[in-house]
Amino acid sequence: MDWRDRLNRFMYGRYGQDQFSKFLLAVCFVLLILSFFIPIPGLGILVLLLLVYVYFRMLSRNVTARAAENRKYLELKDRFLGLFRGGSGCGRVQGENVIFRCPKCSQKIRIPGGKGLVEITCPKCRTKFRKRT
Ligand SMILES: [Zn+2]
Repeated sequence: MDWRDRLNRFMYGRYGQDQFSKFLLAVCFVLLILSFFIPIPGLGILVLLLLVYVYFRMLSRNVTARAAENRKYLELKDRFLGLFRGGSGCGRVQGENVIFRCPKCSQKIRIPGGKGLVEITCPKCRTKFRKRT
């Protein structure tokens, strides 16, 4: 029996990796890199605890609970990204239209939404700028 069979047998019925685990591992990695530059007390312990948690999740046999955690993570991520998109100053959606402000004269310009990257010409000062709708 080679190591792959052993691993498969060991992982049988266990939860394994998901997006949440990958996210947590990425966080560990970032914190680890950070700790090389800024010595924050307790950061090493935090990374260790996070890693233990990631492995606990991967080896867990309670698949339903782990899947629920992953779903919650994806939901939060979606909400966070939505917040980020809405707050990045790329215009408020009003019905089908998106409202932008000219970077030069602050003139409000209404553009039909959902057209991707468009070049907008300000009707007031003729400044051209690109925005995603
Ligand atoms: Zn303008």
